[in-house]
Parts: sequence; C-alpha cells; structure tokens
Amino acid sequence: MAPRRGILIILSSPSGAGKSTLAKSLRDWDDSIAFSVSATTRAPRPGELDGREYYFRTRAEFLGMVDAGEMLEHAEVFGNLYGSPKAPVETAIAAGNDVLFDIDWQGGQQIRQSSLGQDVVSVFVLPPSIADLERRLRGRGQDSDEVIAGRMQKSRSEISHWAEYDYVLVNRDVDVAAAQLQTILGAERLRRTRQPGLGEFVRALNSEFEDRT
Ligand code: ADP
Ligand code: 5GP
Repeated sequence: MAPRRGILIILSSPSGAGKSTLAKSLRDWDDSIAFSVSATTRAPRPGELDGREYYFRTRAEFLGMVDAGEMLEHAEVFGNLYGSPKAPVETAIAAGNDVLFDIDWQGGQQIRQSSLGQDVVSVFVLPPSIADLERRLRGRGQDSDEVIAGRMQKSRSEISHWAEYDYVLVNRDVDVAAAQLQTILGAERLRRTRQPGLGEFVRALNSEFEDRT
C-alpha cells in the first residue's frame, strides 16, 4: 500500500502547562514520530544541547535563515526569536513520518496557513488552574523569578488562542493527558483521507466478490 503523508502535530500551550512533557511521552509511545527541533536566539538552559532541544543561534544567524527561506514559520516569543526549519519537516512527511512541533500560537497559525496546512493536527494544552501553572513553572526550576513572572504574564494571551486548535486537552494528570494525545493521533492516522491505499484495497475486495460468482 502507498505510504500516507505524515501528519504535522502541533502542540501549543502557555509556558509550563506541560507541552514538552507530553511531547516526550508521545515519542516514547511511538519512536517513529520525528520532533521538529526549532532554532532559537534564547540562551540554552542547563542541560539543553545544541541540535537536541534547539539549534541555538545568534540573532544574525537566525535572520539569515529566515531570509534564505529556510523557516516554515518563525515568531518572537518572550523577546527571543524561535522558528521551525522547513527542510527536515518536508523530508519526514513525504516519507510518511509524523512530525511533532512544540511551538506557540503564532507558529501554529503560520503552519496552518502554509501549503502544509492540510497535514496539520493541532492540540492546545491547558493547565488545570493558573495556580498550578505557576507551581509547574517554579517546580521546573529552570527560570529566574523575573523570567517566570514574564511567562505568567504572557499566559493569558497564549490561552486566548485555544479555540483556533483542533483539540484541547486539560493537563491535570499527565498520564491521562498523554493517553488522550495518543488517542488523537491514533484516530487522525485512520482518517479516510490519510489512507491513500484504501481505493486499491477495496478494489481487491470487490474482485474477490467477483471471483466468487
Ligand atoms: P511546557 O513545555 O509547556 O513549558 P513542561 O512540560 O516543561 O511545560 O512542564 C512544566 C513542569 O510541569 C515540568 O516540571 C513538568 O514535569 C511538570 N508537569 C507537566 N505535566 C504535569 C502534570 N500533569 N502534573 C504535574 N506536573 C506536571
Ligand atoms: P521555551 O523558551 O520555554 O523553550 O519556549 C518558549 C515558547 O516558544 C514556547 O511556547 C514554545 O512552544 C515556543 N516555541 C518553541 N519553538 C518554537 C518555534 O520554532 N516557533 C514558534 N513559533 N514558537 C516556538
């Protein structure tokens, strides 16, 4: 059967709601899912590796990539530039592999409006409460008080984009939310339009009918 085109799974949420945790669990569930490693001008956090969490670039290098048309989308978030390199995504989906994006609403909107828009499944992750969101940001222990305050302030505007997404998850219990994400992807893979070999398969069933008469 012909391979289906890969799906672009876009995960967005206010910072700290659990996107990275859910992204990791989805890839642990199915390691054929590629992760779109973004480029960013922000400084690496302790433990982050260039080329694994992000491609850490200077502003000039980043803008050079934009000018060369190498970005599928890009946006400024919390004063830093972030963008998704286009080439690895095109290669993966043409080969039938799904690609997961951890990007903000601006990036989600740009990809939905791009030529790859029909391949997008978008999921917005909400925290159970704003108090939980703040606790999670603090508990992650990777940002200063000032950075956390900035992220909390931005949360309201990020959350205001929830209705632009195909699916919305409330990340109360991480195992429940992870299972819900698997359900979404499992169902989206079964869409008739994502099974290119179905016509051929049903023709074979019909010829079996004919052989019986
Ligand atoms: P994001 O990628 O959206 O910024 P993270 O995945 O880094 O968020 O999660 C922020 C923090 O919250 C992490 O320390 C993570 O372990 C924790 N976390 C994620 N989901 C849950 C949950 N359902 N309950 C409690 N803590 C969670
Ligand atoms: P962080 O600095 O916490 O890793 O990410 C901050 C925000 O930037 C998160 O909301 C994350 O989803 C978003 N982000 C990360 N990579 C990209 C990207 O390539 N494009 C866009 N538009 N947003 C991104």
